[in-house]
Amino acid sequence: MNRLKVPSSFSRILDTVLPPHSLITGKVLSSSDNDADTELWQHLKFIDDPCCTACGFPFEFEQGEEALCMRCHAHKPDFDHARAAITYDDNSRKLILDFKHGGRTDGVKFFAAQMLRSGGQILEGADMLIPVPLHQKRLRQRRFNQAALLARSISGLNGIPYQTELLRRTKNTPSQGGQTFSGRRRNVSGAFSVSPEHGDLLKGKHVVLIDDVFTTGSTLSACAKTLKRAGAIRVDALTFMRVVRPQEILK
Ligand SMILES: [Zn+2]
Repeated sequence: MNRLKVPSSFSRILDTVLPPHSLITGKVLSSSDNDADTELWQHLKFIDDPCCTACGFPFEFEQGEEALCMRCHAHKPDFDHARAAITYDDNSRKLILDFKHGGRTDGVKFFAAQMLRSGGQILEGADMLIPVPLHQKRLRQRRFNQAALLARSISGLNGIPYQTELLRRTKNTPSQGGQTFSGRRRNVSGAFSVSPEHGDLLKGKHVVLIDDVFTTGSTLSACAKTLKRAGAIRVDALTFMRVVRPQEILK
């Protein structure tokens, strides 16, 4: 991406009149922060078509509308379609770790806007957004569910209601970091349930699950299975980031 060359004296005047704001958080930045922010923005990899119709794994070449990646071909996930906005890699990692573990929530609007862009097709006609729940114990430690913040922000942009009470995490599964695909699947198997008092809300509905990162898809698939058993007819998944290379599995 070419950067617009602005004479430094003019740039300083501009900074005085209009101090630089983060492209991601919207916060006022010092000049060194501003350089780092612009650098980060330029290195984010946005995910577009073509991709696996099921899990959204990006393909280098168009392979047909219903093409599946090798992994989905071998083991089809329980969600119908998953899409993500940005590739999880060395450049983007800090954004999500600051959000998830550092409690920095000032980028949520930016994350939600990118998810809206990449999730256009799966959000069309959706009845509700459901954030992937944290177990109560984990929620108390972290103080907020990052997936719920994303769902609320997307709902504010497109008007699709979000529902945080319906899906529950009943098993406090150990961290998924570093586990293999099959280990992750076993880990989250039976970890979710639908609250009996809200179960009827799902009958015949098109649900979009919301989470921060798609790692192997095991958690999203387990959630989708639970929601379909309770009557949802279609369950898609939308995340801000996606691990594309297996060695970058989120720790
Ligand atoms: Zn796939």
